[in-house]
Amino acid sequence: MVSCDTAVEAVSRRDARPELGEPGVGAVTAGAGWRPKVTHTGRTASADSPLRSEFEGLLGENVCPACSYLAERERSFFSWFANENHTAANVQAELRASMGMCAAHSRRLMKEPGPGPIVTMVAREALAGALSRMRDGTPSGPCPACYAKARSLEDTRHLVLDALERERDASRYREHPGLCLDHLLALEGTDQATAIKVVTEHLLERLITSAGASALEMLAGVDDDASRRAFWRERLVEPEVMTSTIAQLCGRLEITACPACLAGGLAEARYLDWFLKRSQAGDPSLRTDPGELCSAHLRDAALQDPAGARCAIERKRTVTTGALARLLDQLARLPQPNGRRRRNEGQVTQQIRATVRAVHECPVCRARDTAELRQLQLLDAALALPSVRSRYESSHGLCVHHALRLSDGPSAPIVRRVVSGRLGVLAWEVGEIRRKYVWASRYELAGPEQDAWLRAFAQIDGRVLSGGPPPPIRPTGRQSDDWYG
Ligand SMILES: [Zn+2]
Ligand SMILES: [Zn+2]
Ligand SMILES: [Zn+2]
Ligand SMILES: [Zn+2]
Repeated sequence: MVSCDTAVEAVSRRDARPELGEPGVGAVTAGAGWRPKVTHTGRTASADSPLRSEFEGLLGENVCPACSYLAERERSFFSWFANENHTAANVQAELRASMGMCAAHSRRLMKEPGPGPIVTMVAREALAGALSRMRDGTPSGPCPACYAKARSLEDTRHLVLDALERERDASRYREHPGLCLDHLLALEGTDQATAIKVVTEHLLERLITSAGASALEMLAGVDDDASRRAFWRERLVEPEVMTSTIAQLCGRLEITACPACLAGGLAEARYLDWFLKRSQAGDPSLRTDPGELCSAHLRDAALQDPAGARCAIERKRTVTTGALARLLDQLARLPQPNGRRRRNEGQVTQQIRATVRAVHECPVCRARDTAELRQLQLLDAALALPSVRSRYESSHGLCVHHALRLSDGPSAPIVRRVVSGRLGVLAWEVGEIRRKYVWASRYELAGPEQDAWLRAFAQIDGRVLSGGPPPPIRPTGRQSDDWYG
């Protein structure tokens, strides 16, 4: 399973990826088949000015136009995926290449369409892709949902940048909440300084005059996955505190989860708890901590404790308003393009990166990433010990995502052997679920394989369940849908 960043990179290389063809002219693909016709609010594009009509359509909702548009396209993607294109051979090939969907989209898939033949098919293809990746290092492709979303973002980006070069559209834009911080950052890579200036001025003005929930929306955008992350984070299992590092590691291996994902998930949860409690108590030391919470962690904090999150929102608001003011100052100093000489594209992007992007190093991301790395380093060293090795061989072991990060270390052979063996058994179990779907097998009872699709997602990338173990299966019958987030 791969990240949205990989999808963005793939979109930027899309001319070099003929297998992800356009709908209607080539094979149906999960990533391309639902590509927007851009007019998403039902307004008809006028013949003389289709761009303006589409731009006005984007401003239909009273939230960041890119957030609302992408949320709608994502909903459309999953609806189309569930109703139609999950059966297409090349869509299944894409799922194999990407080892299923990314953590956020796997969580969505677990809710919609939820447990059943579609999610089991995704698990089958994800396992086939993961086995081949472990066997011969086949390169991974982008999550199909992220790829589709990145393409829609690219369309939205061009639409906004072109429209805001015109004063009439810029005036319309100023009457709207405008782009959130993340989607302002998504505009980099352009020389259209006028449009960037309109977006920056508007966001700055709104951040100065608003607070609380509306400031949160501008700083963190729309995030449908936040409640699903919280669901799984609440189910994290804390290992017992032991008297030695080796005993502590072995205790962690008792839990049915990737030890690196578990360490990362626990560090993330602990930092959020600690931060929110200190924030409620008005701890002045928080003001000197470097960085501010990223969009996802700001949403997580606000969902967990709205009052405790106020300090993080306020701090990010202060830092962002300063950064946006500096960006405007820098844009005003750029030399104006004259005649046929265009401004160097790198100059605008460089200013966005230097003034706005550089100030956002999230302490929760840092805590999670550091804990994952330290756990991997410990495991790499400790697997030389026979007692740890034998314990590891009978444990869940690392997920594929983390096993690939140990591919060169001394522990690599044992890690690969364990993960490949577990993937093989999961593939058999998923085959068993599918066999029992067949009418001729209706006399058979569901066995321990019934949640193998969920365990497969977690074995490929433990971050799907926020680092924790899957819920225990019920001895009889199917879980209710709220069992999965
Ligand atoms: Zn947005
Ligand atoms: Zn995705
Ligand atoms: Zn992991
Ligand atoms: Zn973060």
